[in-house]
Amino acid sequence: MMSTPLEQLVSRSREIGEDPSLVVYGGGNTSAKGVLVDHLGREQRVMWVKGSGADMRGSTASDYPALRLDDLRPLLARDDMSDEEMTDLVARALLDPGARRPSIETLLHAFLPYTHIDHVHADAICALTNHAEGPRIVAEALGEGFAYVDWMRPGFTLSKVVAELGDRDGVVLAHHGLITWGESTEVCAEHTRATVARAAAYLDALPMRVEAPARVPDMPDDEIERLLLHLRGAMSRTGRRVLHIDDRLRAVADRPDIADVVAGGVSSADHMLRIKPRSVIVASAASAAEDVDGYAAEYSAYVERNSEAMPEGFGMHDPMPRVALVPGLGAITTGATLRDAEVAADIAMRTHEVAATVADRIGAPEPLSDRETFRFDYWPMELYKLTLRPPAPDLAGYIAIVTGAASGIGRGIAVELAARGASLVLADLDGEGLEEAAERLRERGGAAPVLVAGDQSDEGVVEETVRRAVRDFGGLDGAVINAGIGVTGTLEELTLAQWDSAQRINLTSGFLLTRAAMRVLREQGSGGSLVYVASKNAFGPGAGFGAYSVSKAGMVQLMRIAALEGGGAGIRANAINPDAVFDNSRLWDDGLREERAAAHGIAPGELEDFYASRNILKRRVTTADVAATAAFLLSDASSRTTGAVIPVDGGVAGAFPR
Ligand SMILES: [Zn+2]
Repeated sequence: MMSTPLEQLVSRSREIGEDPSLVVYGGGNTSAKGVLVDHLGREQRVMWVKGSGADMRGSTASDYPALRLDDLRPLLARDDMSDEEMTDLVARALLDPGARRPSIETLLHAFLPYTHIDHVHADAICALTNHAEGPRIVAEALGEGFAYVDWMRPGFTLSKVVAELGDRDGVVLAHHGLITWGESTEVCAEHTRATVARAAAYLDALPMRVEAPARVPDMPDDEIERLLLHLRGAMSRTGRRVLHIDDRLRAVADRPDIADVVAGGVSSADHMLRIKPRSVIVASAASAAEDVDGYAAEYSAYVERNSEAMPEGFGMHDPMPRVALVPGLGAITTGATLRDAEVAADIAMRTHEVAATVADRIGAPEPLSDRETFRFDYWPMELYKLTLRPPAPDLAGYIAIVTGAASGIGRGIAVELAARGASLVLADLDGEGLEEAAERLRERGGAAPVLVAGDQSDEGVVEETVRRAVRDFGGLDGAVINAGIGVTGTLEELTLAQWDSAQRINLTSGFLLTRAAMRVLREQGSGGSLVYVASKNAFGPGAGFGAYSVSKAGMVQLMRIAALEGGGAGIRANAINPDAVFDNSRLWDDGLREERAAAHGIAPGELEDFYASRNILKRRVTTADVAATAAFLLSDASSRTTGAVIPVDGGVAGAFPR
């Protein structure tokens, strides 16, 4: 059976979407025209066009809403039309009013008579146009048959301009991309492919204007870590973010003319939605804060001088860079999650490689004018795409370590923090349990955590845990010091080894992580929060549970010292005193349940109810209760609280903090 135009469109678009040299992350759009029988059985001439912000890669039929051509074509007679009116009129042509919003370039597709149309933001095409000699180079590369259209923001006027060029071989849009077409999907696809290949071959055949640059020496590891911390610290003035190192941009970052490449701006205008109009160049850890401040000041000045073009109801975006190019390293990109930062790196790679190709083969890369950059940067039609994303959760961009995360309270805290958008390093002795915890996070929609399997009372393991937060996410905001074991026995019974292991695993591990985390937080310079999961036993000890109770009392004192010493650097420290948390906690395995039951003169199975009956509120305490308190203490909601102990024990008068 012959496939329908819509099926052909989806399959052709998916193929385009697979090639990042043609489109990335929702860029470009495609269309097909045909006949559809509507809900009342009438035949309608329609056009299917990609939805605004839809990614061609992996797209499905629902990403291509159908519009009545008879409602779109007459609009060609208009002289003028605002974006708002255009959006409204296009929406009225939808066959299904509930369909996703069609591309801002819908009229461009509707006004051209062809059955199949591709519009891609191909790198090779952008390299032909993003400099002073665009028209000449396009004609040389693709022949006189192709039309060259100087930069014009998409919308009604551009659609009318392109409608006049339907008799040409195709249309090149400066600083934007390519429009090609065909009567069949095969002809259209081949036309797109061949045109981009011709542009690439033309560029390859041009002689290199500059010598291949010498490689800048690799940045040493400790310098990279300092650089990440200083960058993140400087950027944290406007919010938290994850930083990601991408070495694919190393060759670009090492170029002696890197400033010229960056000055070329973005290759296709829509890249600025994700990576801003410019990247910043950062030379070293020592200069990072100054480089970022300089960038933010320049961005603010650009918004200020274009303020009369600011659309109503909008304000300045975050002035911090999304992409930093670092000689000797590559790029450091930012985002609310590692995934966002990786997307920014993918886009930055296209943008800067196009500018580098222009510099190598043609001449100085040129950006859009300041005003046109601003008009695109603050274009409500483009910003609409961002509104399609769910709102950022309250811990987006927050980086935290959770120890003892393989089970029990630690795992519960990790799940809670991940659900709130935090990027996590999870540590535990139990590597298999960590994998399970990571799986639980993914099930709940959290980002993939970094896992560190090892003994948190080992200095080297703790240093590595903190280092991974810096290397993998760019810094640190908080740590939940939770790893611990239960050790029972009266003082007369306890062996030295039992006593030592309780202190080492419950308390010394807390000291080691406090030390390592505080050093990093101080270097980063944007404060932080340390949360100690102590115990009701710290204030209300139990006979026969001495080694444990002493270690937890020590932990509360450790927290107080951390609060005193860290306060000047904005580092907060607080403790949680839970009691009798049973759900999925391994603390009660290995005989502890039986021993505590015996100590209270009850059967082991009665222990949960016994503890619940003992507290003031008569309620069982769960990991979720402790996790919610940990999230509160890590977050800015508790920004004025340090040195505090919060009981999560249902109320035990003998263990009230004092
Ligand atoms: Zn476009």
